[in-house]
Amino acid sequence: MKLWEKNIRKVVPYVPGEQPQGSRLIKLNTNENPYPPSPLVIKALTEMDAEAFRKYPDPAASLLTQELARTYGVNQNQVFVGVGSDDVLGMAFLTFFHSEKPILFPDITYSFYPVWADLFRIPYETPALDPDFRIRKEDYFRENGGIIFPNPNAPTGLEMDLDEIRAILQHNPDVVVIIDEAYIDFGAESALPLIEAYDNLLIVQTFSKSRAMAGMRIGFAIGNPDLIKAMSDVKYSYNSYTMNLPSILLGVQAVRDQEYFQETLGKIVRTREETKVWMSELGFSFTDSKTNFLFATHNQVPAEELFEALKREQIYVRYFKQKGLDQYLRITIGTDEEMAVLRRFLERFLKDNGVFSPA
Ligand SMILES: *Cc1c(COP(=O)(O)O)cnc(C)c1O
Repeated sequence: MKLWEKNIRKVVPYVPGEQPQGSRLIKLNTNENPYPPSPLVIKALTEMDAEAFRKYPDPAASLLTQELARTYGVNQNQVFVGVGSDDVLGMAFLTFFHSEKPILFPDITYSFYPVWADLFRIPYETPALDPDFRIRKEDYFRENGGIIFPNPNAPTGLEMDLDEIRAILQHNPDVVVIIDEAYIDFGAESALPLIEAYDNLLIVQTFSKSRAMAGMRIGFAIGNPDLIKAMSDVKYSYNSYTMNLPSILLGVQAVRDQEYFQETLGKIVRTREETKVWMSELGFSFTDSKTNFLFATHNQVPAEELFEALKREQIYVRYFKQKGLDQYLRITIGTDEEMAVLRRFLERFLKDNGVFSPA
């Protein structure tokens, strides 16, 4: 072993879902939005002046924080933006989880949390979900160095109601509580109104799912101005210009188009509910997802077998070969056409395997 090798920081990285290439495939594995971004975004992109790229962008991304502040009814100094919510969450871990005591997050949740904790050497504990995959609020009523969980949780899709979130906040006035609301726009209730009462609450959201802009990399946090200032100070100590000019300008347009936003959300929620109906008929059951994905299990066929069969058909869904999750598939809600292809294949596959005979 070379001596320099012992000085290398060794980490086990987060593994995102596959990004297979090709036009024929149906991609339901990373919870992207099946619809294009707002027409306002597309228009602004075609009108963009590349000459502007000569200069550095605004390090505070003020145009975007201003638009978000207006939309969410907060002050501009309560908004932080970053390169996807992964960047925002990473900055939040680095800024707020600086205690000797372990931070807490569920054992089944967004699998990036333990990766950041390891990278930044933050001790952590992971209370188990209950048998119905719900977060038990009481598990978060003990001494800790900070709390983070998604609401709705991923990959379970389950929402925690505001009374339970309030109870967690009441038991934790001395640490920062972060709620990762990556899927909030698909039907769950945001904890945003609670930031007035709880100055230790940070809400994190993303443009990647509900605003159909995963490729642009835009995420944001809203909270008390002191929290936002602390995060900005850390960010300016690491990289001042995280957000490039196109994402600032196009992000503004995406936030402005509330009408298109509501329209596409409505379509996805409708497709989700319709998918639940025909999947039940095929022998699947799932949690009551308030997201743009279903967390589904079949009453006879192992999830891994379905995953492999779907993949051979160029239909990509997410499978976690992990204890507690290995009988489930996480299936992103696509367009009605994509879901129809999924349905036809599943009907045929289950019929061929003798587990389903259509009436
Ligand atoms: C998708 C996702 C994110 C990260 O999204 P970005 O693309 O980085 O904004 C964060 N948390 C959860 C729970 C997610 O599902």
